[in-house]
Amino acid sequence: GAPVIAIDGPSGSGKGTIAECLARRLGWHVLDSGALYRCLGLAAHRRALDLDDGAAMGRLAAELAIRFDGDRVLLNDEDVSDAIRTAEAGPRASRVAVHAPVRGALLSWQRAAARRPGLIADGRDMGSTVFPDATLKIYLDASPEERARRRYKQLKEKGMDANLPALTRELRERDALDRNREQSPLTIADGAVVIDTTALSIDDVVAAVLAEARS
Ligand code: C5P
Repeated sequence: GAPVIAIDGPSGSGKGTIAECLARRLGWHVLDSGALYRCLGLAAHRRALDLDDGAAMGRLAAELAIRFDGDRVLLNDEDVSDAIRTAEAGPRASRVAVHAPVRGALLSWQRAAARRPGLIADGRDMGSTVFPDATLKIYLDASPEERARRRYKQLKEKGMDANLPALTRELRERDALDRNREQSPLTIADGAVVIDTTALSIDDVVAAVLAEARS
């Protein structure tokens, strides 16, 4: 199959940015797996469904039509790129991501994203579950304070509402949920290279991953 670089780590560790940069450098495709869970959380919220109902969330995950068009995310043909990045969208995504039927419904969809010339897959379980045979597995980390600052900056740059103490609290809660859940918890996959990005620039991290890819 096509080569895959799996990039996992907690929110704000730089996965999305690094995945985009790597994809541009290598001319590869990107899979932003978090966007799938965010779309599901958004769709469930809009339909006033119970996000803690695993069976209902699994059915919804199986029927949603999600597409990526450049940097835009389309949910049933509607551009939801901004709607899935609000402060409420992250916690909602984590809530629906705990359910086995949801993760099962999204599995083949994610695997189908691996195509030539190659895929950079960004998420929590790319190396552990979705692409266990990935060419290279990277685990990005950073201090909680730095991760909250990055999210704050990102939201502000988009002209969206952001509050640093609230973001810090939200990140901690989401991390705890992602790490302690039963289904595909956030962990360092077997064979993953761990990079602490707290004090590194984007270019530094991209260079470090490319060096690993060549070795
Ligand atoms: O990476 P992002 O912040 O967009 O992910 C949103 C949420 O989706 C995460 O907090 C996590 O609960 C869930 N997620 C997941 N598995 C993935 C990617 C995201 O469970 N591969």
